[in-house]
Amino acid sequence: MFTIGCHLSASKGYLAMAKQAVDLGGNTFQFFTRNPRGGMAKAIDPADISAFHAFCEAHGIRTILAHAPYTLNACAADARVMDFCLRTMADDLQRMEYTPGQLYNFHPGSHVQQGVETGIEKISATLNQVLFADMTTTVLLETMAGKGSEVGGTFEQLREIIDRTTLSDKLGVCLDTCHVHDGGYDIVHDLDGVLTQFDRVIGLSRLKAIHLNDSKNPCGARKDRHEKIGEGHIGLQALTRVINHPALRDLPFFLETPNELPGYAAEIALLRAQRTDD
Ligand code: FE
Ligand code: FE
Ligand code: ZN
Repeated sequence: MFTIGCHLSASKGYLAMAKQAVDLGGNTFQFFTRNPRGGMAKAIDPADISAFHAFCEAHGIRTILAHAPYTLNACAADARVMDFCLRTMADDLQRMEYTPGQLYNFHPGSHVQQGVETGIEKISATLNQVLFADMTTTVLLETMAGKGSEVGGTFEQLREIIDRTTLSDKLGVCLDTCHVHDGGYDIVHDLDGVLTQFDRVIGLSRLKAIHLNDSKNPCGARKDRHEKIGEGHIGLQALTRVINHPALRDLPFFLETPNELPGYAAEIALLRAQRTDD
């Protein structure tokens, strides 16, 4: 089954997002757990959650992806920033249990002059504080473009974070096509080679989701500027190979392209037309 959706605003609740996903031609969606600027998350409404679960059951939505605020920094030097990150992630992971067995994605962090090794150690320490044994959520480390002092711009760095995390069975990876491309992995000319590398370093069994984005910049630019599908340096042909690749085709795909809702609907339809038979 082709599982495709896009990033949606969480402001009207879970049922509203699921309905919107279906209206756009999708069968999954991504949302921010709270305003990216931080602050309080909206209170969980049990009635919304139960209506959401019934709607998902009826419409074949099996997977959703919650995205942590991108302003979190799990390896911050500043104690207050670190404390905010710990409290936010712990609270998010408790809230995730209202939708059991789903995915929670976060940007590993930026080490800001502390060095990548310290960054990796702190990110694992953060995970060791917020993961808990009986959680049902899988926490995804997002592959990053390697912009500035971002940690997670190479598969090796993600591997190191996983290795230093005690409850590593709770961890997976979300591969962002724009980010890996900008990070220097040539998914346009050598998708197989990149996936072989991913498998060797991290293991393809860890790969749980794809952020499907084109890029405004060439491979290796370390920029992280998303482009509409087919309008960037990755292009429709290469993205078509991504959605049909045997190692990837059963994963959920999430668009984070610069679009309003009609643009997302058009991209979902476009990608459905490129999908080979299941
Ligand atoms: Fe992200
Ligand atoms: Fe992404
Ligand atoms: Zn990005």
